[in-house]
Amino acid sequence: YAAKQRNSGAVTYIPEIDKSSQQSLSLLSELRAALDHNAFRLYVQPKVELGTGRVIAVEALVRWIHPERGFIFPDQFIPFAEQTGFIRLLTRWVLEQAATMCSEWEARGLHLKMSVNLSTRDLLDQDLPNKFADILARHKISPESFCLEITESAIMDDPVRAQQTLERLHVMGVDLSIDDFGTGYSSLAYLKSLPVDELKIDKSFVLKMEQDLDDAKIVRSTIDLGHNMGLRVVAEGVENKDVMQLLREMGCDQAQGYYISKPMPAEHLQEWVMKWVPPEYSAAA
Ligand code: C2E
Ligand code: MG
Ligand code: MG
Ligand code: MG
Repeated sequence: YAAKQRNSGAVTYIPEIDKSSQQSLSLLSELRAALDHNAFRLYVQPKVELGTGRVIAVEALVRWIHPERGFIFPDQFIPFAEQTGFIRLLTRWVLEQAATMCSEWEARGLHLKMSVNLSTRDLLDQDLPNKFADILARHKISPESFCLEITESAIMDDPVRAQQTLERLHVMGVDLSIDDFGTGYSSLAYLKSLPVDELKIDKSFVLKMEQDLDDAKIVRSTIDLGHNMGLRVVAEGVENKDVMQLLREMGCDQAQGYYISKPMPAEHLQEWVMKWVPPEYSAAA
């Protein structure tokens, strides 16, 4: 790809930059096309109440089925969607789909709290609370059925505006959750000042906590911290029975992870719930 020159000869395109900005442009148009052609899929992953073993909530996780590249995980397009602002459209799509599923489940007698991830851009979107209220009203869903997950870094970006958006969402009656807790900065200051209901311990502390004593100590302290602040505590990244049992003994409220189930297409959830059998724990050591 040859460097181009403008009339004056003064402007020289640097090939790599040119190429990457072209790729960005085409990725953005592919994302837009994906919305138009229904190429996003709503996946959900169950959350289990540790005390009872019941499935009481799910987290919505988006996937992209690309016509040529196939199945694409969110890590490969969410950051780009955030940079370009496309995330606002995607978030609305996810909220709409999540509300649709929620009301279908309700109609069939399955009551589950639905968690949706928000990103930095969403927290700066002044229209979001009204748009969300409108979605809930159209689907006749009470705000208490929803939980919005926010990361510490998303709040960090513009704490003042983020707090305003969060306050508006919270007065609607929606639950708010701090996601990936422990990986960002100033976690404790946010816990004190934000209207939060739930804290999700990041999977990096949970994955190997049955082997790593330091991880186990961090998880235990985080559960206690959350409870002392009056919050519900959820552990993500539960991959085996030992971790599930440890969390239960530590008094953690809910668990989410591959040991229970990997994320699945939302339409499969009800059948999965009907087959779910909670683990039998061994006698406490
Ligand atoms: P997250 O919100 O922290 O979601 C949890 C991630 O951990 C999910 O990855 C889930 O599949 C994965 N996970 C759950 N249990 C286990 C486990 O036992 N072991 C391991 N190794 N991983 C587990 P996923 O679906 O690839 O999503 C990655 C991230 O992308 C999410 O992290 C979230 O930050 C973002 N994301 C996903 N969907 C959306 C969305 O609709 N909107 C926004 N803004 N972000 C989203
Ligand atoms: Mg999350
Ligand atoms: Mg998380
Ligand atoms: Mg995480």
